[in-house]
Amino acid sequence: MILILQSKATDDQVDHVIEKVESLGLKAHLSRGTYRTIVGIIGDESKLSEERLRSIPGVSEVVPVLPPYKLASLEAHPEPSVVNVSGVQIGGGHLGMIAGPCSVEDADRMHRIAKSVRDAGANLFRGGAYKPRTSPYAFQGLGEDGLKILREVGDEYGMPIVTEVTDPRNVELVAKYADMLQVGARNMQNFVLLTEVGRTSRPVLLKRGMSATIKDLLMSAEYVLSQGNPNVVLCERGIKGFDTITRNLFDVAAVPAVKALTHLPIIVDPSHATGRPDLIPPCALAGIAAGADGVHVEVHDCPEEAKSDGPQALLPDQYQELAKQMRQLAELFQKTISPLPEALA
Ligand code: PEP
Ligand code: MN
Repeated sequence: MILILQSKATDDQVDHVIEKVESLGLKAHLSRGTYRTIVGIIGDESKLSEERLRSIPGVSEVVPVLPPYKLASLEAHPEPSVVNVSGVQIGGGHLGMIAGPCSVEDADRMHRIAKSVRDAGANLFRGGAYKPRTSPYAFQGLGEDGLKILREVGDEYGMPIVTEVTDPRNVELVAKYADMLQVGARNMQNFVLLTEVGRTSRPVLLKRGMSATIKDLLMSAEYVLSQGNPNVVLCERGIKGFDTITRNLFDVAAVPAVKALTHLPIIVDPSHATGRPDLIPPCALAGIAAGADGVHVEVHDCPEEAKSDGPQALLPDQYQELAKQMRQLAELFQKTISPLPEALA
């Protein structure tokens, strides 16, 4: 941490800053320039609060040397993390291919969709049993019945399952059925929920909030990591833009930008990012080309009957074609796609 003092800081204030730092058991290194005085702090910075330092009289700026997302940072863990979702690897050169409908629907339909995405090459099956909807009158999900269907279908087709948890009170229940817990965009800063999922041993798919910065996303990941759960996969799913032609603004640059800051894997979700089936394939491929560790796509066999997000669903055939292209691109970038785990297949 470096403290930049105000240009008119008095000698008494400078002495006070040094005393304060030393009283915390740290060393202060004073450097007086013509216009500015700087105090470098040497020692265990975990004891320091940036806000408290900024309130010492005479201090103008506090410049952290290490990022505040300590566990998520590349400094803490220079090698890319590989997250294992019941045998399917994501990160460190392994692509997660997540596909399935937005919501869990009736069992027959779920069987049909799971079979089609599995045959196309997806290695993780998704579907929401608890849906965070803008309207309280919209379909809210099948709840535990939906979790049961998802588990049964996952087991039948040998695919680990990913499903959203929206409420800290349901974390234990959802973790009983799911292989991976999704924290959705709307809950990215639900700190109680992040803490609860951090206390489980289930991998977490953490989606970027639509108005969240990359730093906000990494701080949310830090909540999960700080509870002892190291298995976090980030997801870029589009942020608020001003254009109404697409549902959100697909921030593809976030992928390499995130990779320059953290060891955690990051996947893309072109379905929510664009909201348009015709834009999903190019954006999925752009995500892989940008270095994403996986792609999350919503697929439905009859979008007009979908309980949610029908307009952005890919048909099974369209997903099959996209999956083929994603495999070709993965090969070009020397990425591997985990086969379905033996234990489940
Ligand atoms: C979803 O995955 O269906 C979903 C609601 O995603 P998001 O939180 O990104 O909107
Ligand atoms: Mn959806």
